[in-house]
Amino acid sequence: MNSSEQPLKTAGYRTQPLVVPGNSCYGHGHGWAQVVSFAPQVHKEERVKVPMRDMVCHVCGKSSQIPAAALSAQCVHCHAYFETTHYVLHSGTRHRILHTLGNVIVPGGVELSHLDVMCSDLVISGKVSGRFCAAQRLELRGRARIKGELSADFLSVPSGASVTVAPSVMVRNAELRGELRGRLIAKGQVHVYSNGRLLGACRAEKLLLDPGAEHEGVLLT
Ligand SMILES: [Zn+2]
Repeated sequence: MNSSEQPLKTAGYRTQPLVVPGNSCYGHGHGWAQVVSFAPQVHKEERVKVPMRDMVCHVCGKSSQIPAAALSAQCVHCHAYFETTHYVLHSGTRHRILHTLGNVIVPGGVELSHLDVMCSDLVISGKVSGRFCAAQRLELRGRARIKGELSADFLSVPSGASVTVAPSVMVRNAELRGELRGRLIAKGQVHVYSNGRLLGACRAEKLLLDPGAEHEGVLLT
């Protein structure tokens, strides 16, 4: 018996290539012929379930699922490539261009200019200028000041905040419980809660003002 005629191990991972009798030589003393596959056999019940999370592509806007622990990911729709790191920016940071599927935080007291940020959730409490796009949630806290292009799917200004955007912020929906100075352009609904203030022009499909809420500025159409 030559070595290629040893019985195959079929459980778990193969340690040798799977071979089957080739029709042309089987029975003629030439042994095994056709190599079929080196692929490891992984049985269904052995597969490990990887925790997944949703991602929204910054380029095409479509959502898909990526492994929760992935450090980078590629959009299955448009093939754009992103890292998934979260960043907390401090004054003097060398990071000026941040395109990540993770979240970005600019804490209070931090002043940064010429930033180019694309991320999932963005929280700004500091004073920044540049271009900012949050694919999901944008939260403006404390005494945040933002100059430049600012857009997000959802804007939240929490209670107690007094923030300024110049010239404007573009969102789908917004929820104001604190004070926002600047122009607010919304494709969907703007909801100003009691004690919330919007000081600037507003364009929205629907503007909801709770009792005690304030809007000073024109309604754009
Ligand atoms: Zn995409």
